[in-house]
Amino acid sequence: MAKKVHIPLQLIIEHGAIAHLHKSSIGEWLQGARVLLISGSGSTRKVTEQIKDAIKELAEEVSILTCQDVKLDTINEIERQVLEDTPDLIMGVGGGKALDMSKVVGTRSNVPVILFPTAISSDVICSPVASIKMMNHSTSIGVKMPQAVVIDLDVLASCPPRLMSAGIGDLLSNKTALFDWKLAHQAGKEEMNTFANLMANNAVESFMNLLNQPELNQSQLMKVAAEALIMSGIAMSIAGSSRPCSGSEHLISHALDYHCGSKALHGEQVAIGVLFSQYLQGQREKIEKLTPYFEKLGLPTHYEDLGYTREEMLRAIVKAPSMRDRYTIFNEFNLLEDQIDRILDEVYPDQAKNRYRLTGLSVG
Ligand SMILES: [Zn+2]
Repeated sequence: MAKKVHIPLQLIIEHGAIAHLHKSSIGEWLQGARVLLISGSGSTRKVTEQIKDAIKELAEEVSILTCQDVKLDTINEIERQVLEDTPDLIMGVGGGKALDMSKVVGTRSNVPVILFPTAISSDVICSPVASIKMMNHSTSIGVKMPQAVVIDLDVLASCPPRLMSAGIGDLLSNKTALFDWKLAHQAGKEEMNTFANLMANNAVESFMNLLNQPELNQSQLMKVAAEALIMSGIAMSIAGSSRPCSGSEHLISHALDYHCGSKALHGEQVAIGVLFSQYLQGQREKIEKLTPYFEKLGLPTHYEDLGYTREEMLRAIVKAPSMRDRYTIFNEFNLLEDQIDRILDEVYPDQAKNRYRLTGLSVG
């Protein structure tokens, strides 16, 4: 029996994508349409104005709402405005929050959504999941896939390197997440969707293969990272859950958010989690270590570089297995605090500190 899978109807990743919108099928969707742009704040606003200029001749009406956060109250307020004067199309423009907001409001008000990521800091750019804030804590909810995703590589070129590192951290986590999924399947805890598995694995493999090419430029790196994160989102859509891209490493990041003050970006925390998860997974089976890629890409390799203390990291690992009901490598170890303490020394040695700087951040 075949399964219906939701994927975007249109995917554009190119230089000058915004200026060329009128030449794509999105140009036809815009004819006579009433469009609401949900924009991130800060430097994202400039991109939003650029999109408005590019589409104002095609659309009947273009309005802009700025979104500062993804708290439930803010979501309710934007949804109220959308329901009072319902647009034909919502366009989300930003690095994270505005994309999540657009997906949630679009799903709740049944308006199609086009996403214009201005950074690729996680697989939020094209996934059936959105992260929202409830009671000061982040939580993930299921949403409809966007109708289209437009990534202008000229816009990404000016995105801070820190956001790119976070996106690549979220992408590499497919490896540890897929290992955990296989474990869960072997333990009889979860179904395996081989197609979603293949897709999430190919997404990260295609990116890792690119890194071995001798003449790699920044533009190619951004394009392949964006494509791979989109493939990851589609793998989640096929699986019907975040399973292909979220395992024990994500549980560690969720624990850092929930119990330790949420001090860094999702993808950065996930990258730190990948190092711990691959250690445990390597104890069970021989696995290909991702550490060399961390060094090559300048990803964070020590929790202190993200602002966390030893006590906080220890607490995050203790709490991680209980963050959600998801079978992972943690279930096969039942680590005690003194064991975690010893592993922390091995996974995050002193020489891994001070390689990463938390600078240049602007997530809309
Ligand atoms: Zn993630």
